[in-house]
Amino acid sequence: MEEKLLYKKKVDLSLFKYGLTIPQRLHREFLNGPIKHIPRGHSITGYLVYNGTEYPIRIGNADAIGRKNDTLRILYQGPELRQLMKALFPESYNFLCDPVSGELRKRKIPDDKTEYLYIFSTAKPYHYRITKVAAPDQKQVIAKNPKWHRDELILALDLYFKIDLNKSSPEHPNVIELSELLNKLPIHSNRPNQEKFCNPNGVHMKLMNFRAIDPNYPGKGLQRGGKLETEIWDEFATDRKLLSRVAQQIRNTVAGEIAQSVANSSEDEEELEFPEGKILYRIHKARERNQTLVRKAKEIALRQNNGRLKCEVCGFDFREAYGEIGEGYIECHHIIPVSELDLGAKTKLTDLALVCSNCHRMLHRKRPWITIEQLKHLYKNNR
Ligand SMILES: [Zn+2]
Ligand SMILES: [Zn+2]
Repeated sequence: MEEKLLYKKKVDLSLFKYGLTIPQRLHREFLNGPIKHIPRGHSITGYLVYNGTEYPIRIGNADAIGRKNDTLRILYQGPELRQLMKALFPESYNFLCDPVSGELRKRKIPDDKTEYLYIFSTAKPYHYRITKVAAPDQKQVIAKNPKWHRDELILALDLYFKIDLNKSSPEHPNVIELSELLNKLPIHSNRPNQEKFCNPNGVHMKLMNFRAIDPNYPGKGLQRGGKLETEIWDEFATDRKLLSRVAQQIRNTVAGEIAQSVANSSEDEEELEFPEGKILYRIHKARERNQTLVRKAKEIALRQNNGRLKCEVCGFDFREAYGEIGEGYIECHHIIPVSELDLGAKTKLTDLALVCSNCHRMLHRKRPWITIEQLKHLYKNNR
């Protein structure tokens, strides 16, 4: 079950006293376990989860005789949740607290000061994750982690084909291993919600998303993943060898120096589209920026072409097109697919092709990797 925002609870007196009442329209969504209805006067156990800590609650249907509708309430067990709410929303608390008597009073908190408790469903029935949303931020939704990148989805899909899915769970050792690995990858510098970032639960969910896409899975899938999940599936599901090679290569980068250099290189719009993901893109780019080799490759080309630098694919000449400013400009493309690179080995002169910016982009875009000759054909045939 995907985590879902169930309720934006306005902070009020009840939260500091006993818990909260669940609006009628949300009863069904809140009762997300085997017990779908609680008879009047009865209750079941549940948990509010804050920052990984589970606080026990009772979910009860009040014994309200004569009332047509059920009254479902979340009731705190013990003082801990009351203390937590006080710590989370000190401003609301102070507003409601009478300064003289210290008693809580029923008062309406003005709109611009209203704080919210967001309540999410989780994978576990009757476990609700809660977060605080303070007044000034109420329009921006709570800190959300960045979406999964290609790299991460590639690793998840690789795992998808390697484990017995019926045994997948947030406790599965491979799921935990991948979660730990994902947290080491130098992809996201910004993780608003570190605790939840690609946690085992998230990894397990991702596997379930892939299962929903998988045409060979007979059951009714869970929620399908997003567009990128489908894209990754289409690109890699039929070529498992490639998938496991690319995944292995991404894993290889986690160690030491490479990770550092990848983390330090700057963001680049193109990396989002690079089929093998951000990390392998950066490694590819780093190879193409090998100054010594690039200079050598240019020197040789200049000698062979009477002092001109031409794109090896389309023949574009920057000097010819732009005049002086284009003098000496050409891009270098590393022709070995990153998934096949020996990460420890040095770049060779023969690995580099000199191409114009347009052709270079196309080379990065097309998969399986194409050769300079193949792109030349495409270029000619489409003119
Ligand atoms: Zn070109
Ligand atoms: Zn390139």
